[in-house]
Amino acid sequence: MSDPALDILKSTFGYQSFRGFQSDVIGEVVAGHDALVLMPTGGGKSLCYQIPALIRGGTAVVVSPLIALMDDQINSLRELGIRADCLHSAMLPEDRAQVERELLLGDLDLLYVAPERLLTESMQRLLDQIQVALFAIDEAHCVSQWGHDFRPEYLQLSRLQTRFPGVPRIALTATADLRTRQEIRERLGLESARVFTDSFNRPNIFYRISQKKQGKQQLLNFLNKEHPEDSGIVYCLSRKKVEQTAEWLAQAGRKALPYHAGLSPEERRSNQHRFIAEEGIIIVATIAFGMGIDKPDVRFVAHLDLPRSIEAYYQETGRAGRDGLPATAWMVYGLQDVVLLKQLQARSSASQQIQQIEQQKLETMLALCEVTGCRRQILLTYFDEPLDKPCGYCDLCLEPAEVWDGTEVARKALSCIYRSGQNFGVAHLVDILLGKSTDKTRRFGHDHLSTFGIGKELDQGNWRSVYRQLVARGYVNVDHDSHGALKLNENCRSLLKGDEQIELRRDRYEPSRKYEKEYR
Ligand code: ADP
Ligand code: ZN
Repeated sequence: MSDPALDILKSTFGYQSFRGFQSDVIGEVVAGHDALVLMPTGGGKSLCYQIPALIRGGTAVVVSPLIALMDDQINSLRELGIRADCLHSAMLPEDRAQVERELLLGDLDLLYVAPERLLTESMQRLLDQIQVALFAIDEAHCVSQWGHDFRPEYLQLSRLQTRFPGVPRIALTATADLRTRQEIRERLGLESARVFTDSFNRPNIFYRISQKKQGKQQLLNFLNKEHPEDSGIVYCLSRKKVEQTAEWLAQAGRKALPYHAGLSPEERRSNQHRFIAEEGIIIVATIAFGMGIDKPDVRFVAHLDLPRSIEAYYQETGRAGRDGLPATAWMVYGLQDVVLLKQLQARSSASQQIQQIEQQKLETMLALCEVTGCRRQILLTYFDEPLDKPCGYCDLCLEPAEVWDGTEVARKALSCIYRSGQNFGVAHLVDILLGKSTDKTRRFGHDHLSTFGIGKELDQGNWRSVYRQLVARGYVNVDHDSHGALKLNENCRSLLKGDEQIELRRDRYEPSRKYEKEYR
């Protein structure tokens, strides 16, 4: 018996067989049922609604948040002879009218719309006059406040179910931890939908996170040693740092190009084009880069700054090694990153609830940085896919973290925060511990504190490491208002009283020789 879905896959899309559970999803939607599809980027989500769109009568309506992505999709569909178009706010009125005419004539297989457009009166009237084959909700995590890209317009999509009963809905996303998943189901009314989850494991990506000392130099060492000619992406938090880093790498002889939202559209397009077309290009970018980039042979993704959440880290590192060949996810981070991210969060206009969520996400990201066990295990547990064994292919599996008893020094570090009034950042606290007589210690009378000079057993770098780990483990908070002042948290009480022991990790800046031997 012939399978219409497979026939279309072959004849229209030119592929020989389905990937993963594509065929199951298609069957579910063609039969008129709802579905929630979780598949990593590049997994092949689009076919899951495009093929049902061609099999079911009428027009499939696809909700998509990014106009640029819509245009890409529509162009490639048209090349395959599929009738696709879109409606969004950036269109000229006459173009919009033309699309509406086609829609009413039943001349469209797929119509892409922006979420805020879908529930307008005029759009509803239009949809009432046609046969809707299905609704596809792309980037469905946008409906979740816990998800990394909340868009309030997505909330209205819950009305689709009552407004168009009997029309199947398929929601798709690439990143959704358990909590986001639950929010998607509740908020889109997909409680009874079948959920299709692909593995989030990317076994060909080697995860590696070290402490930042001289970030750019560490990056260059890594690139020269391990990826002397490869192309890859370097992420930085600010535009300024993107430009500086790109310039610096270029001076060091690498083909590095900047990419951020402050560049002209022509420059962005040209840099993106070179990245895809030429060999060995390194794109240095803010998070603005990546959505919709389909380059299979990205051999490394490097982070010079801490991403704001595990989802962001996963999504960004996931752009490496789409071809299945070995690739590296490399990162350096330090306490300063935490201070900066907190300040950004505090400055945003987001509600208190959202700020709190962002805070929690940053904490989980920090926990991933400071683990002593396998990174992949932590990462996959976050996506509700626990690995039962350490992966054997991450920095900590190859070279376990060295731990030491930090109880005594942690107590000194905490009491130094307390004695100086919980108003100072890490640099000053370390000066006090080391007994450095600076303008600032004298001005505040901190050279008379009982903690002045009690920490000579460690050097500056090690004290910074102690504070960073105390922050990452939730004993100390970073204040975003006053230049990263450290404040004690409830959790540190038993540590201060001596009822609790703490093990700290020894910092690592470069892989050791042993590690390099095994890795190469
Ligand atoms: P996603 O939306 O999940 O990121 P896409 O739908 O854009 O992924 O698909 C990624 C790439 O994989 C596209 O180039 C697509 O044409 C290709 N692809 C999808 N399904 C198949 C398949 N069954 N066989 C071969 N290639 C496929
Ligand atoms: Zn591991």
